[in-house]
Amino acid sequence: MLTVEEALDAILSRISPLGSERVDVVGALGRVLAEPIVSRREIPPWPNSSMDGYAVRAQDTGTGARLAIVGRVEAGALPTRAVGRGETMRIFTGAPLPEGADTVVPQEDVAAVDGHIEVGRAFERAAFVRPRGEDVRVGERVLEAGIVLTAAEIGLLATLGYGQVRVHRRPRVAVLSTGNELADLGTEPGPGQIPNTNTYTLMAQILESGGDPASLGVAPDRLEAIEGRIRAARDADVLISSAGVSVGELDLVREALLRAGAELHLWQVSMRPGKPITFGSLGSRPVWGLPGNPVSAMVTFELFVRPALLKMGGRRRLSRPRVRARALATVPNPGSRRGYLRVTLERTAEGLGARLTGEQGSAILRSMVAADGLAVVPGDTVVPPGGELEIVLLRELP
Ligand code: AMP
Ligand code: MG
Repeated sequence: MLTVEEALDAILSRISPLGSERVDVVGALGRVLAEPIVSRREIPPWPNSSMDGYAVRAQDTGTGARLAIVGRVEAGALPTRAVGRGETMRIFTGAPLPEGADTVVPQEDVAAVDGHIEVGRAFERAAFVRPRGEDVRVGERVLEAGIVLTAAEIGLLATLGYGQVRVHRRPRVAVLSTGNELADLGTEPGPGQIPNTNTYTLMAQILESGGDPASLGVAPDRLEAIEGRIRAARDADVLISSAGVSVGELDLVREALLRAGAELHLWQVSMRPGKPITFGSLGSRPVWGLPGNPVSAMVTFELFVRPALLKMGGRRRLSRPRVRARALATVPNPGSRRGYLRVTLERTAEGLGARLTGEQGSAILRSMVAADGLAVVPGDTVVPPGGELEIVLLRELP
């Protein structure tokens, strides 16, 4: 059986970033930039006022200074003349500074009377003026390829005139659920049936990982049916199925993948929940067969699929943040497999504390609903109250 690290290495070594596409700038939020951005604009394009006030020459200010108002310039307009010695021009925030002026005196600091202003004190040269190119110079490389775009970068791109930008493609991920017992959403489960959960948790996890999910529905536990669905997912970059990967007679996913032409690279990983997991390649496309229990499917997705989808989308940072916390109650991990145990986190006087969400059964989805993170606990270990835990964060810290 492989360790989690060995399995993840085996997976990531077979995953490459997808190519790029051009998208509208706002749609690029959260995507990975695939081209460096060099500015073709000077921002701001000319010196302008950062206040409503009066454009002046700094050397004309000082105690008792009195300047003649010779014009007015608003944002969006150009000054119609220059400012000479002993003169000033009314100016508004964002308006271009007139020739001759080098400083702005805020309106709060002057008394305006009879077409003149009285300035009570000296102002330093360039006060309240935003110089040309203060933010961005022409030719400056402002964004590097490989960064994840946030709101600030979107604003910068728009400022530089980019209506569209080149980003890494999002992986298209087909999701298949297998099992005779499954009733899909929209159908009331009949006798012996249970609702299909995994298609929906997985599609949501795919979205969270920057992927573009599509459902292949539910296949019954028949080899040809599963194989047919796998073959139908031709447009997808990635295929993920759940259930049917264990050793039972009805566990047909591995066989169906092989029949559809897949090469399988790994099967069992020493972890709890989720020991049976299949990873393979269908041509150049990665495929995963995740376990059927809803918590196992979610946790194995977290550990083995999410990093791969992030990598395909061009991300460099593939792992969730980890924190350390003290156990607020005993955390047992019986059995030799490493545990990824659902915990809630709370802030205590001694720092971050963690406790199990309750029963850790791999079919208890509400243990994931309650979980802030997964405590990584070695096999055959009992962490006593006060003991240290390493936690993979699934949500923001409380
Ligand atoms: P299997 O790996 O097929 O033996 O499935 C393990 C357990 O997960 C069984 O109890 C299944 O009923 C359950 N299961 C499988 N697929 C799903 C699904 N899509 N949604 C909810 N439970 C499932
Ligand atoms: Mg089954």
